[in-house]
Amino acid sequence: MEMHLDHEQKMLLDTVKRFMEEELYPHEEEVDRTGRVPLELGRQIEKRAIDAGLYSANLPEDVGGGGLGYRSLALMEREYGKTSHALHSWIGRPTEILLACEGDQIEEYLLPCVRAEKRELFALTEPEAGSDIMSMKTTARRDGDDWILNGSKHFISGPVMPDFAIVFAATGVDETPRGERKRITAFLVDVGTDGFDISEGTHCVSYRGYHTFEMSFSDVRLGARHILGEEGRGLELSGKWLGMGRVWVGATCCGKAERLFGMAAEWAANRKQFGKPIGQFQATGFKLADMAIEMKAADLMVMNAVENAEKGTMSDADAAMVKVYCSEMLNRVADNTVQIYGGMGLMEELPVQRLWRDSRLERIWDGTSEIQRHIITRSILRPLGA
Ligand SMILES: Cc1cc2nc3c(=O)[nH]c(=O)nc-3n(C[C@H](O)[C@H](O)[C@H](O)COP(=O)(O)OP(=O)(O)OC[C@H]3O[C@@H](n4cnc5c(N)ncnc54)[C@H](O)[C@@H]3O)c2cc1C
Repeated sequence: MEMHLDHEQKMLLDTVKRFMEEELYPHEEEVDRTGRVPLELGRQIEKRAIDAGLYSANLPEDVGGGGLGYRSLALMEREYGKTSHALHSWIGRPTEILLACEGDQIEEYLLPCVRAEKRELFALTEPEAGSDIMSMKTTARRDGDDWILNGSKHFISGPVMPDFAIVFAATGVDETPRGERKRITAFLVDVGTDGFDISEGTHCVSYRGYHTFEMSFSDVRLGARHILGEEGRGLELSGKWLGMGRVWVGATCCGKAERLFGMAAEWAANRKQFGKPIGQFQATGFKLADMAIEMKAADLMVMNAVENAEKGTMSDADAAMVKVYCSEMLNRVADNTVQIYGGMGLMEELPVQRLWRDSRLERIWDGTSEIQRHIITRSILRPLGA
């Protein structure tokens, strides 16, 4: 989509595009085929991202980050979305939740992440608690001034074995007008702490080479200094940042859709059957038209959410709408692209099948489409008292 960019945004986009051409695209196929990003390659991407000023671009300048505004970040994420998460996640964008670090936590966790000296994971999901996060079984109980953590997490993802995890655990129960509600607290838990086991989990067919980890906690002793933010306020803390995360998912979906669309249009213009380009058959041409309409709508939704976020008026429902629409748009675009390619769309030697496989995850992580629709429904019915 034609976007009006200022000088700085054009320069940023040029830098990101050049970086991707030189550092990421050349490795896509091998990473997907082997299911791994060699550590040396990951570290090289990380180092060159620091040199290019792209590392930690999402964090404020006063902590050493790039200090980019939401619009610039959306442009950047949109571009990254064209390639595999397994590769672009090496260009670290530490989770903004770390900005809640206080006192010694700043030197111990936040700043090393900004400088690529440490990597974190965000550990919320459990085997029995996916969409229904309040059913989490991981607990931390008080023991004097300490906390004792027990439980497990799965599907916790990142490019590489982390140095620490932000682990969400129930630390009690609150009485609320709607009944009992678990108090959820976020803890900073170092890999290597006694009782904390972390290992690689099962392999996902989307973004091969991007790892998921399983974690178990057996009487892990933590001090008050390991609490991120306030005790009992973990969900509010994560909720503060999750909304923008969903907008970034939307932006990456727009980028991936644009890449797929380019392939589909090219194929439709060049592949001939019955003596003419298949794009000239209405059944194919209209697929392209529908894809173009939806892609434009998705881009406009992302930009609208970004404008609202800049004004401080973006709601949870706005972010949920972006996540649902963009991820489902991408899946329709990916499916149509496979259809336009015919049998070739499923052949391993072409990238279409990989982008189609990668697209599928976008409707699931960061909250499934169904959960986003719950958020939107709630925003409609709650004001009416239902
Ligand atoms: C590759 C990958 C990486 C991930 N990375 C992370 C990470 O870094 N950190 C992290 O914490 N989590 C991570 N996740 C977890 C991800 O957020 C969850 O997979 C997602 O929230 C869905 O949970 P679930 O898989 O347990 O599915 P379930 O919750 O079991 O849902 C299964 C189906 O039931 C539907 N469903 C459930 N409840 C309802 C309802 N009330 N109404 C309607 N439909 C419903 C869902 O929409 C879905 O279609 C990752 C997952 C994957 C696959």
